[in-house]
Amino acid sequence: MNTKYIFITGGVASSLGKGIIASSLAKLLQARGLRVTIQKFDPYINIDPGTLNPYEHGECYVTEDGAETDLDLGHYERFLGVYTSKANNVTTGKIYHTVITKEREGAYLGKTVQIVPHITDEIKRRILLLGRTGEYDVILTEIGGTIGDMESQPFVEAVRQLQWELPEEDCMSVHLTLIPYLSAAKELKTKPTQHSVQALQQGGVTPDVIVCRTEHPLSQELRRKIALFCNVRPGHVIQSIDAWSIYQVPLNMHEEHLDELAVRKLQIDNFATPDLGRWKTFLERIKNPAHEVQVVLVGKYVELQDAYKSIQEAFVHAGAANDCRVNVRTVQSENVTAENVGELLEGADGILVAPGFGERGLEGKVFAIRHAREKDIPFLGICLGMQMCVVEFARDVLGWKDAASTELDPQTPHPVICMMEEQKKTNIKGGTMRLGAYACTLEKGSLAASLYGGTDISERHRHRYEFNSEYLSEFEKNGLKATGRNPQTGLVEVVELPSHPFFIGVQFHPEYKSTPERPHPLFVGLVKAALAFRRGKK
Ligand code: GLN
Repeated sequence: MNTKYIFITGGVASSLGKGIIASSLAKLLQARGLRVTIQKFDPYINIDPGTLNPYEHGECYVTEDGAETDLDLGHYERFLGVYTSKANNVTTGKIYHTVITKEREGAYLGKTVQIVPHITDEIKRRILLLGRTGEYDVILTEIGGTIGDMESQPFVEAVRQLQWELPEEDCMSVHLTLIPYLSAAKELKTKPTQHSVQALQQGGVTPDVIVCRTEHPLSQELRRKIALFCNVRPGHVIQSIDAWSIYQVPLNMHEEHLDELAVRKLQIDNFATPDLGRWKTFLERIKNPAHEVQVVLVGKYVELQDAYKSIQEAFVHAGAANDCRVNVRTVQSENVTAENVGELLEGADGILVAPGFGERGLEGKVFAIRHAREKDIPFLGICLGMQMCVVEFARDVLGWKDAASTELDPQTPHPVICMMEEQKKTNIKGGTMRLGAYACTLEKGSLAASLYGGTDISERHRHRYEFNSEYLSEFEKNGLKATGRNPQTGLVEVVELPSHPFFIGVQFHPEYKSTPERPHPLFVGLVKAALAFRRGKK
């Protein structure tokens, strides 16, 4: 069987959840036994989202091979349980960079370099790249942005050309739109969808299926009307009604026959029903858990729901593993002071101090960590959260009031967290951090080793600063232990307080690897400890 390509575009409005629809369809095809991956094409000019503020674009997701990518790749990995890579996220910036570099090298000598064919050729090359590995039966390509945007036009043109070049049964186009409900008229309106599909068709792409986001069920009559005016087959207009959990969406899409429409269009000789047993068990667990805990997430981007997406999802997975609802309450680290910390963290059964960059809110993180340490509240610090727990311990236990990370205070006499040597050699900001998967060896008998159930692990990184090992013996003598080290460089990756019921800081990002079917041990451990803490309070 040839590799099959499914293109997913979106219209009418942004934030309709194209990533979730793509992930859901991919999940259903995977559950039918097909080898599936998803890639995202983003129409902005940044080479990657690594240099974007989370307020602009939500969380930056990091892959095993160290690509800084769109947060939708997190959904892809969580739904499919399959790693993505650099090749799974392409931006307009990357496309132009490749074409312009080739132009300077003389690859187009004598020719005028143009959007069509040079940019569109490069887009097509990248779309087909994962297919050429032979590792996948189906590749879903999500085109970021909204149809009609100037930025996405070259991508739509590339899809048009591919649909024309590849055998008809190897391509499928899915368009996601919004059907707004006008409460004054008590009516669902289809006109914006008609316009969106017209715009797509003007670009030469006809959708095979229209998926309609809606708050109310679509009647058969309305579906027929959309099909007629948008020139798609009756039965190929399906609804995606607001779901109680994103993890419910694959089941909803299956009920709407989206996967069946796909295997028919792509002539995939596979009419087996998807096997979603484990997925359903997970859903049952998150629907009616027996217990409940409150975890406080302290961070500086808490106003934006998507800024800590993977952490939020990791708590859903870890909750399911503990038969427990995890209510994640966020606290803006900038607001935390020595005086109000008790009040702001009132009711916390567990505390997570988030990753981050720059000075803003750092002191607040230190106070939150002190509170967790002194009150025996289960604590997990991730990346910057781990670095700040080292700073807190240095200041309060070792008595070095001026201890800091050099990110916060470059002149500190006690640089307990400092910049890595290789980082000092570069001033370039994009893609120059310590990125991607690195091995880590855990100390036998440590909390980390017992949670992971072993001592050899690998986790993903995204940082410039690190624990300054010159101070290690001072820390260890006084009770903060380094229980995880990089086996090659000796860099400290995990710190723990054995005197505390659950206090652990990790330089890496465990949240990126948590999935419903493989919840992350550190999150599972934190939720379990939070449950025990809550029981102890009663
Ligand atoms: N700003 C810190 C560093 O660069 C931590 C980064 C993070 O939390 N991802 O090391």
